[in-house]
Amino acid sequence: MTGLLIRGAEVAGRGSADVRVADGRVTEVGPGLLRATGEPVVEARGGALLPGLSDSHLHLTALAAAGTSVPCGPPAVRDVHALSAALGGAAGDAHGWVRGVGYFESVAGDLDATGLDRLHPARPVRVQHRSGALWILNTAGVDGLGLASADHPGIERSADGTPTGRLWRADDWLRSRLPPPPAPDMAAVGARLCALGITAVTDATPDLDDDALALIAAAVDRGDLPQRVQLLGAPLHRRAPGPRLAVGPYKIVLADSGLPDLDSLVDRIGAVHGAGRSVAVHCVSREALVLLVAAVRVCGVRPGDRIEHAALVPRELLPELATSGLRVVTQPGFLTARGDDFLADVPAGDHSDLYRCRSLLDAGVPVALSSDAPFGPLDPWTVLAAALDRRTPSGAIAGAPERIPFDVALDGYLAEPTDPGGTPRRVVPGLAADLVLLDRPFTDMAAEPVAGAVRAVLIGGAVLTDR
Ligand SMILES: [Zn+2]
Repeated sequence: MTGLLIRGAEVAGRGSADVRVADGRVTEVGPGLLRATGEPVVEARGGALLPGLSDSHLHLTALAAAGTSVPCGPPAVRDVHALSAALGGAAGDAHGWVRGVGYFESVAGDLDATGLDRLHPARPVRVQHRSGALWILNTAGVDGLGLASADHPGIERSADGTPTGRLWRADDWLRSRLPPPPAPDMAAVGARLCALGITAVTDATPDLDDDALALIAAAVDRGDLPQRVQLLGAPLHRRAPGPRLAVGPYKIVLADSGLPDLDSLVDRIGAVHGAGRSVAVHCVSREALVLLVAAVRVCGVRPGDRIEHAALVPRELLPELATSGLRVVTQPGFLTARGDDFLADVPAGDHSDLYRCRSLLDAGVPVALSSDAPFGPLDPWTVLAAALDRRTPSGAIAGAPERIPFDVALDGYLAEPTDPGGTPRRVVPGLAADLVLLDRPFTDMAAEPVAGAVRAVLIGGAVLTDR
């Protein structure tokens, strides 16, 4: 394997550093390294060189599908006119269908077929509500699916039996009635991640089936997904299929619609630990978090056990979280995307409970930042900006005491994928050469984090992006 020399970078706050990469690792860091004969050179021109970012919680196949869909909710789309324009401008699939995602009532109210027809009657349209529980179809869509004569309990009907265009919890049924979708474009996802400086990802989709596993494995094999990938949803006894595809902790979803009782959660975690895996437990509400903490009090924590989201953490739980050994994988980017809704739903005194960062770190809880894309913003620099200022779309601040400085927030993206929230990687000899070169010094990026500052990305020493 060949190497290269990165010249004149800023490393750990010091300018004019040269960094040699060979055989997939950083081998030398220091000023004035001599170029070997024929060694390729990247001139950093004072840009900061960082370890590649690791997004500890996202959803690869959903991200690929979202790439071919039209965003129909904030922040991309905020009102009826923007929604109409977005649907009208959408390319549509080979069968003429337009697929929208992320709809929220603040855009155009309680949407149904009639409402959607006013926005886009021409082609069949289906729009997914942000909750994931509801699809809304226009009349062309209703007719295309034959909803009038179909039989599914999720088909909402008016008093005279006409379908309203609203279809509840019917994803599998809907899929069976629609033309087959195009294969998810993982290469587009890989390229997007690269452009953002992400060199490792953890897929947090629970219960990945054989098709999803095969799709991700093939994308990694082909190099469509050049990132290192860890899977939380691999079946319990599945072993790692390759060096760039790892099996991580096992995902358990504590759905607020049906929390398990304490004993069954204890048994479930015990079974996962018994199989030699840690757990990654989805906890969005206070109730789910309290239940998890009670469960690990009984069954104990295995190193690597993690809490996904921790969207609401009551202050009184912080000391016990700190002693529990659990780590938190959270997403302050949701404040940027939906913060005003949260502020409306959560009493003012509890605003700091939302996507806590500072108080968790102060208490000694390891905290990793992540996107939960496509449900939260994928761009890590947006997530980092959210951790810095916790600003909502309207400009309000959600829990000012929970703000953290840029370097602290960035460390939340820099630990090994197997150790989220753990020791951040640094650009030193021995580091795997997963690197991000910015076009500006660190302090400039800290003042205004933007993805456009990512100039070059290396994974395993190979240059994947260089603008
Ligand atoms: Zn998720």
